Amino acid sequence: MDYKQYISVVEDFPMEGIRFKDITTLMQNGEVYAKAVDDIAEYAKQQNVDVIVGPEARGFIVGCPVAYKLGLGFVPVRKEGKLPRETVKVGYGLEYGKDVLTMHKDAIKPGQRVLITDDLLATGGTIDATIQLIEELGGVIAGIAFMIELTYLDGRAKLKGHDIFTLTQY
Ligand code: IMP
Repeated sequence: MDYKQYISVVEDFPMEGIRFKDITTLMQNGEVYAKAVDDIAEYAKQQNVDVIVGPEARGFIVGCPVAYKLGLGFVPVRKEGKLPRETVKVGYGLEYGKDVLTMHKDAIKPGQRVLITDDLLATGGTIDATIQLIEELGGVIAGIAFMIELTYLDGRAKLKGHDIFTLTQY
């Protein structure tokens, strides 16, 4: 499947000089969205995954349908102040300033094999922070799946040592 023809590239969004990759046009096509979910579910099966974790918000769009298809649980990673029970948290650098990601403390059991999902791999900062949360709870990173990889930002270097699956690359 040539996923690129269904992904929109939007110039100067959210700021000048950025070429934003927009997956909403892919999601509008039921057949293509289903194929994307099936491809990632196939990868998850190969990696022997027990549970799926995704950061808000687009990590949910990728991870939840895969979890449903495989009959697995899904764990949301959210910005600070959004999850109602006890959490683990990690600060991470953004292009401008810092942010905090959180996950419920009881969400992962030690030794569980985790698939992380998100729409896009850029610098790898978001997923690096997500890995820290999972490992703090004793989870094992079985694989990381994205719809899109921006190879020129070399997020793979930041996530070195982990298995990464992507549907398409720019
Ligand atoms: P990273 O942490 O630098 O790898 O950035 C990845 C995060 O930023 C993901 O959660 C993406 O949703 C978001 N992101 C960065 N660039 C784009 C883009 O061009 N399209 C959609 N999301 C993006």
